[in-house]
Amino acid sequence: MDNFEFKFDRIVGSKVQFEVDDLDAFKKELRKGHLKFNASPADHNMISNAQRKKIYALFRDISDYTGYEEQEVKNRLKLQFSYNTGYGNFSLSNCTKELATQFIRFVIEFCFRYDIPFDSKVMENTIDAERRVFLCLVHRQCTVCGSRQGLQINHEDTVGMGNNRNHIDHRNHRLEMLCFKHHSEFHNIGAKAFADKYHFHGIKLSDKSILSLKLMSQKQMDEFDEEYKRQKELNRNG
Ligand SMILES: [Zn+2]
Repeated sequence: MDNFEFKFDRIVGSKVQFEVDDLDAFKKELRKGHLKFNASPADHNMISNAQRKKIYALFRDISDYTGYEEQEVKNRLKLQFSYNTGYGNFSLSNCTKELATQFIRFVIEFCFRYDIPFDSKVMENTIDAERRVFLCLVHRQCTVCGSRQGLQINHEDTVGMGNNRNHIDHRNHRLEMLCFKHHSEFHNIGAKAFADKYHFHGIKLSDKSILSLKLMSQKQMDEFDEEYKRQKELNRNG
């Protein structure tokens, strides 16, 4: 049987409420007729059930996509991770929570790098929103749903009506990659409601990233810089 982690929520009268780390698995136990569970203070430093579940879900997605056996995927990724980080061999049954978090991040970045589709839910509480927005921009997938179809780069700070979309200095805007559906939603419900709903904001990219994404050429950047210089001089002389 799986071990669950319960997080104290509140006491109501003589009843105590807990949040369980893996509700679906917990319900499964209830359906099997298990109504009593042992609880003891948790060792906060150990890998949690939810973390382990995320890791195996990723292994499965990678295995489905690449055709390698799950065990093979696991062995290779663990080896690569140990090599990159300098950690020795570790076990997913009893490593620390911190190591598990780092390993999940590593596997997610691996999926982004090799364009391997995976359930984007594994990023919750693991990859911070800003990093996720960045990875989705660089590796071209929708920040909300992970889709690779009909992608558009959204400017969170709306480009005004009068502005020519072809004449935008992307360096001044917070950007995010969205599919057609979520881009439409952004404009339908507005930037604020969108950010409240999906919990991320666009990010400003470095010049280098903008160039490598081919959002702008160096020449366009130079032209904008010239324009700003002229404007500044005009203002000074005006
Ligand atoms: Zn989408």
